[in-house]
Amino acid sequence: MKTVLSLYLIVAVTIALFFTAYFFSKSKTNYRKAFSALVLCISIYLFGYLMIINNNSLEEMIFWNQFQYLGLPFISVLWLIVALLYTKVIYPLKSWMVLLLFLVPAVTFFIRLTNSWHHFFYTNWEIRYLFGYYSLYMERGFWYYVNITYTILCLLSTVIIYLLGYLKNQAGYTKNHFMVFLFASLFPLAGIILILLIFHERNIDYAALIMPISLLIISYGIWKYDFLEIRSLARESIFENNLVGMVILGPGQRIVDYNKAAEQFFEKFGITLGNYPIEHILQGEPELLEIFNNKVSRNYSLEINGEERFFEINSVPLGDSHYGSTRMLKSIRDVTKEKRMQDKLKIMATTDSLSGLCNRVEFMNLAQKEFAWATRQKEELSFLMMDLDHFKNINDTFGHAAGDEVIREVGRTMKTYFRKSDIVGRIGGEEFAVVLKNASLKEAIKTAERFRETVAGKKVVFGNQEITFTISIGVAAITDDADDISNIEDIMKRADDALYRAKAMGRNCVAAWDQKC
Ligand code: GH3
Ligand code: MG
Ligand code: MG
Repeated sequence: MKTVLSLYLIVAVTIALFFTAYFFSKSKTNYRKAFSALVLCISIYLFGYLMIINNNSLEEMIFWNQFQYLGLPFISVLWLIVALLYTKVIYPLKSWMVLLLFLVPAVTFFIRLTNSWHHFFYTNWEIRYLFGYYSLYMERGFWYYVNITYTILCLLSTVIIYLLGYLKNQAGYTKNHFMVFLFASLFPLAGIILILLIFHERNIDYAALIMPISLLIISYGIWKYDFLEIRSLARESIFENNLVGMVILGPGQRIVDYNKAAEQFFEKFGITLGNYPIEHILQGEPELLEIFNNKVSRNYSLEINGEERFFEINSVPLGDSHYGSTRMLKSIRDVTKEKRMQDKLKIMATTDSLSGLCNRVEFMNLAQKEFAWATRQKEELSFLMMDLDHFKNINDTFGHAAGDEVIREVGRTMKTYFRKSDIVGRIGGEEFAVVLKNASLKEAIKTAERFRETVAGKKVVFGNQEITFTISIGVAAITDDADDISNIEDIMKRADDALYRAKAMGRNCVAAWDQKC
């Protein structure tokens, strides 16, 4: 009997040590680290038991019992921590939670170590000879019961957690993994209950006998479902380390999982993610909540360290609809760089690089819209068409670069002179145009006249030369009898005709369109 039991324990300790090393070498995730620690504690415990049954001196047995307690008190709590880390029922597991869970086992270890002083753990021990071998018989003290209650609570919680994980993942590919863990966790629980109920009768550590069976079930699971399979490792690492923030919403819009990037995104709002419904998490951020409740892609901007950043928030349904459409992956992508690039491209496509004003295409676009609005609303609208006088002479006399500088100066002047609401553009080489909103022909003529004077008063210093220049302006407006004006080109044509007249009148002057043009 003793030989069979010893052989059984030797095989179990060997398997357990192999698992410890295996999981430790593959411990990329916390759950595997915890699992490695769990199996190490099991090997210590089993090895201690092996030594106890192979000894017949009370002193040595007590020593090996003490040795067992290096691992024993931590087994159930590690079993629970593996369950929490693996199923992510509570996620992330904060370090204070882990410390709290380890409190009772640490006290147990200490009390067992100092038992000879106070006898809180074992009140008495003796050797008994049963079934062909000597074994250690202990009378239990009050802390023994505290420890065993805590152990049962941990193992019961573990079973419940795996059961919840299994039920939640009915459709997921991790379903069978949960089943194996659940099954394996039932055995130590049964062992402890047997110890509590019938240890006295046979003086056998049922938990030590049963524990290897749990290990075998888990090894079956590893072999069958390959927990360490590269594919699941890759998926997990891609999810966790993705630059795109990801939040998985389960039934009831409850947050089931999230990655680091999502955690960092919500930290900016002072929000800590947890296993709660999204309504609860985002109750202080109604705009964000609305976006998260929405199934279509939405943009969101946020000021971080004085800089505006842009995010695109998307929804991807998870699983088939017949499992309920409540499961959803929300992705949060920082699109600031793309947005900046788009803005830059838009500016490049709509702005004239020399003058900094709208280019012709953009000007026509905006002017057409403004014209449509004004005619619909029966509002006044005027149009100025301008052309620099004798510009060829400027180019010929001072050079093309000097001509460019004059165009730049006109651009700057127009930007400061006209109202922000007016549309100002460079529509040709040295031709400019302005749409004056809410301006009658009379007001537009006045504005044009003052602008002409302003330009005439400007000078551009190029090299050591001063260049003065003038501009001619043609003015047209939507009139009451605007029936013959159906689009912006018509009014532009009128302003152009007026400009032609201004040129004919000797340049550096303003002419308005009338019937004579
Ligand atoms: P007018 O008073 O009749 O308008 O005389 P003008 O010399 O200005 O005649 P016109 O408008 O026909 O000539 C425009 C000149 O402007 C021709 C062209 O070389 C020059 N020009 C057009 N675009 C640019 C530019 O981007 N830079 C420079 N430096 N010159 C330009
Ligand atoms: Mg000209
Ligand atoms: Mg011209």
